[in-house]
Amino acid sequence: MSDCLFCKIIAGEIPSDKVYEDELCYAFNDIAPQAPSHFLVIPKAHIGSVSEIDGSNSGLVAHIFEVIAKITAEKGIESYRVVSNIGEQAGQSVHHLHFHVLSGRDMTWPPG
Ligand code: AMP
Repeated sequence: MSDCLFCKIIAGEIPSDKVYEDELCYAFNDIAPQAPSHFLVIPKAHIGSVSEIDGSNSGLVAHIFEVIAKITAEKGIESYRVVSNIGEQAGQSVHHLHFHVLSGRDMTWPPG
């Protein structure tokens, strides 16, 4: 999608701090980290949010979770939180599906 920030990052039009890449997804460090380690994993295909996941694209989401397990294992991260914000009230600011992976500090529950 031409006006999507994360599509521009995938295309290399906006610089990013790459963590991982394969044919289906891209991972990069968050520009405003909320924990000592905070990276995002996104599908290369434009999907607006979790609300747009269905039988046609859920395999991609399964792949992303495999990638999250792989990246965290390689980094030696044993405890972490995966978050996806959906919609304005939940705090979604970029409308391209992304999973925050946060670690390295104590986290509260329930989240604020
Ligand atoms: P959300 O608010 O859940 O939609 O998450 C969007 C995330 O994207 C935020 O944590 C931002 O800090 C992050 N972000 C925005 N622009 C960039 C960028 N150019 N590079 C890396 N992360 C970004």
